[in-house]
Amino acid sequence: MGYELGDEILGRLRGTFQLSSGEFVALSARRDGDPFRVLVAVIISQNTSERNAFEAFGRLSSSVGLTPEAILKAGVDAVREAIRPAGLQDSKSAAIVEAARLTLEKYGGDLRRLLELGEEAVRRELTAVRGIGYKTVDVLLASFGYPVLPVDTHVRRVARRLGLSRSSSYLGIRRDLERVFRPEVRFEAHLLLIKLGREVCKAREPRCAGCPLSDLCAYYRAQLRAA
Ligand code: SF4
Repeated sequence: MGYELGDEILGRLRGTFQLSSGEFVALSARRDGDPFRVLVAVIISQNTSERNAFEAFGRLSSSVGLTPEAILKAGVDAVREAIRPAGLQDSKSAAIVEAARLTLEKYGGDLRRLLELGEEAVRRELTAVRGIGYKTVDVLLASFGYPVLPVDTHVRRVARRLGLSRSSSYLGIRRDLERVFRPEVRFEAHLLLIKLGREVCKAREPRCAGCPLSDLCAYYRAQLRAA
């Protein structure tokens, strides 16, 4: 299968939505080019709104700092308190401290050294940390140019409604989407599908009448047939 459908979807989404780093904490954290900051941002953003993630990330930055050294020096209690607005602070703070320890002890405090070892090394090393799963690693990889398409809750819902995937597993949906979107656009596709999910293809009431993808959508076609 070629990438024609993915190109068509991406073209329409680009024409509909603007991407801004102020809407995604991981994008905002990436501006400094330090993958450790992005990793911390993505851990914080698990299972919470972007607004809460921005607040927690800002609090951690100002009260503790965003380097592995600062995080280890402050300790898990200080990290937990700082990121409380994002929820799940017990497990997230433990993951952040463990990631800081790994970064400092094995990579001299610079997570770029791990990124340079390639996708498989990053996956192996980081998924061994409790609280860091496939999606967190995929957002980190995609943020630094690796051709992966991270699947969050919006991407999952939109992919299944559009009929791009029938899988219910993370890896299955990612595999199906990576067959649709070319390697070089996968991070952008991830972000634009999130925008579509947040603003149009909402969980409870998708706004199909105003959706730029309605004529391509399996869910919409089924709704029309049932009407
Ligand atoms: S047509 Fe409706 S269900 Fe399909 S992607 Fe658009 S909003 Fe979602």
